[in-house]
Amino acid sequence: LDPSSENLSPIERDIEKVLRPQAFDDFTGQEKVMENLKIFVQAAKLRGEPLDHVLLHGPPGLGKTTLSYIIANEMGVGIKVTSGPVLDKPGDLAGLLTGLDEGDILFIDEIHRLSPLVEEYLYSAMEDFKIDIMLESGPNARSVQISLNPFTLVGATTRSGLLTAPLRARFGINSRLAYYDAKLLTTIVLRSSEILKTPITDEGAYEIARRSRGTPRIANALLRRTRDFAQIKGTGEINTDIARYALKALNVDEHGLDEMDNKILTTIIDKFKGGPVGLKTIATAVGEDEGTIEEVYEPFLIQEGFLMRTSRGREVTEAAYKHLQRNFPGQTGRLF
Ligand code: ADP
Repeated sequence: LDPSSENLSPIERDIEKVLRPQAFDDFTGQEKVMENLKIFVQAAKLRGEPLDHVLLHGPPGLGKTTLSYIIANEMGVGIKVTSGPVLDKPGDLAGLLTGLDEGDILFIDEIHRLSPLVEEYLYSAMEDFKIDIMLESGPNARSVQISLNPFTLVGATTRSGLLTAPLRARFGINSRLAYYDAKLLTTIVLRSSEILKTPITDEGAYEIARRSRGTPRIANALLRRTRDFAQIKGTGEINTDIARYALKALNVDEHGLDEMDNKILTTIIDKFKGGPVGLKTIATAVGEDEGTIEEVYEPFLIQEGFLMRTSRGREVTEAAYKHLQRNFPGQTGRLF
């Protein structure tokens, strides 16, 4: 199961839209972030000004896009959506910026993947709501400065470490989304089941929730697949048994770890005696980018108690050995 939105089919995108909370009050969890955002939105509305630029960071599937739509709804403004890799040249960005009405939101997903040229072009737009555009080309080419309607940029990134300092500095509001615990995800699964008109028990919802890698997008995807099993193999209602049956058939890990999570743990155990081992070495061994491991995979493994970050590198825990059904060498084993 892929927590990122890049590979979603059109049907899956439509379902995501249906399941997407529309208002602050429908959005579960992220309490600290929400508390602040609500205040900033309320204050901006009172002053009749656009909201400050917002940077949302955190792993894929935790609600960054959802929150941007909610902010637009709550501010009562329009929203235009794009992403870093799509904006090829400054002209693409200019087209979007000039189409914004006063107070509108421009959402740029994967903002860490903007090309340096486009990023630089964004600076003056964010700061002074002004951009330079080229009129004509060839010998008659000249650039003119035009004013934009004041707008709010909402940037989302899974890799905040890749953001340049000048870009980061231009965001007044900076929020990090965290993984959801099983209880919050249970609430989300129950809410989604209601929208999808699927009967489900609290225990069935919990079973799905606790194996969703702390990620609402995965929880919703597992719910939809489990619903199929309930319809064909059961009575139509999702309970613990059907959930377990479906998740087993779908090869979903008992803790909700995905393939790369397990590969990282297995590699550290099998090739590096459980660690400590440096991040760079792990990255090479599993064939994944160092920063992606650090910002996308590792936080979850650490939160779930499978991995530790020590001064000498990364070390797996006893729980990881247990999870992978390996013998834990224990303290004495480490001495030799
Ligand atoms: P991101 O932009 O961080 O990758 P999205 O905002 O696209 O994630 O969320 C993925 C899916 O998870 C959406 O369909 C959304 O409905 C659901 N979702 C995310 N966060 C929440 C939440 N707090 N409450 C309910 N559903 C959520």
